[in-house]
Amino acid sequence: MADKRDYYEVLGVDRNASDAAIKKAYRVLAKKYHPDTNPGDKEAEAKFKEASEAYAVLSDAEKRKQYDQFGHAAFDGSGGGAQGFNFDFGDMGDIFGDIFDGMFGGGRSRRSNNGPQRGANLRTSVRVTFEEAVFGCEKEIELTLKDTCTKCNGTGAKPGTSPVTCTKCGGKGQIVYTQQSLFGMVRNVQTCPECNGTGKMVKEKCPDCYGTGYTSSRKKIQVSVPAGIDNGQSIRIRGKGEPGVNGGERGDLLVEVVVSKHPTFQRQDVNLYSTSPISFAQAALGGDIKIKTIDGDVLFNIKPGTQTDTKIRLKGKGVPSLRNKNIRGDHFVTLIVQVPTHLTQEQKDIIRQYDEVSGNTLKVDSEGVKEEKKQKKSFMDKIKDSF
Ligand SMILES: [Zn+2]
Ligand SMILES: [Zn+2]
Repeated sequence: MADKRDYYEVLGVDRNASDAAIKKAYRVLAKKYHPDTNPGDKEAEAKFKEASEAYAVLSDAEKRKQYDQFGHAAFDGSGGGAQGFNFDFGDMGDIFGDIFDGMFGGGRSRRSNNGPQRGANLRTSVRVTFEEAVFGCEKEIELTLKDTCTKCNGTGAKPGTSPVTCTKCGGKGQIVYTQQSLFGMVRNVQTCPECNGTGKMVKEKCPDCYGTGYTSSRKKIQVSVPAGIDNGQSIRIRGKGEPGVNGGERGDLLVEVVVSKHPTFQRQDVNLYSTSPISFAQAALGGDIKIKTIDGDVLFNIKPGTQTDTKIRLKGKGVPSLRNKNIRGDHFVTLIVQVPTHLTQEQKDIIRQYDEVSGNTLKVDSEGVKEEKKQKKSFMDKIKDSF
């Protein structure tokens, strides 16, 4: 007892760890060191026992409080603890029950097998164009849907016969057995392998559904894609998933929307972004330019002397909000001034003329360099002169 490790240390959690964190930590250790997964491994067995003991204490609010106050002394009868705690795995069935359920032997087992169960959700996807996502659209998709077999009403039994109670589980759908292990009784709950948890067995199978209780068929389903939907978002269509069991409602169909890229527009949330070329003459003189928007071309008046990379904002030309399609984002346009290429002789002459009347930039280079040299020389001369 003297070299007993701290329970928190055993589970690898800190002292104020939540119940959920303690449970999670124990689950990981129990799975790793469980005797079933480490047959004959004495060290694993010891670790499993140590972790189980730590969990038994820390998962019980009262015992944890005592442990926090008195440490191991709380349970060995020698300290100031309220009562001696004799560790007995036989009492622990309830604590460990839900940890081990589904961990070994597989399968979920806690659910009731006789009550109505909702059917599972199904997932599929639909591809739409950029514009369809912005403005919304109607799409038709086709998929295979299961339906409860009408011939046998989902029982899977041939009409005129009825399913009988499963003999293996007595109709409960699960098998509970307690196992005597080194540490006392361990309770195991398993879905009945004979009836797969239904509690019933079909003697003569329904010819329409081969005893499954379901028929499958291709179905066309209308999908209303709302304006403003974005790539990766899903549309829920109620009641188009798997059929429920025992009168339970159908699950839902979740349709993920895959939006195609647009050659001109990029989208971020409700805003659109694009670049628009303008000519040198438009940039210099200003005036109306044509800009491509998701609503079609619009005219926009730019100021004389507009520089390249100027950003303009077209209010309300973005994507409608999913919640209210009357509220739209904006469209941000970056103007790019085009430098002309492949000039004709006439164009070149005009540009040279333009240059001559606006500062002779074409000639400044060579003269400017000469000027600089001249200056340098005179500067050096001055220095020489000063000696
Ligand atoms: Zn059937
Ligand atoms: Zn059964």
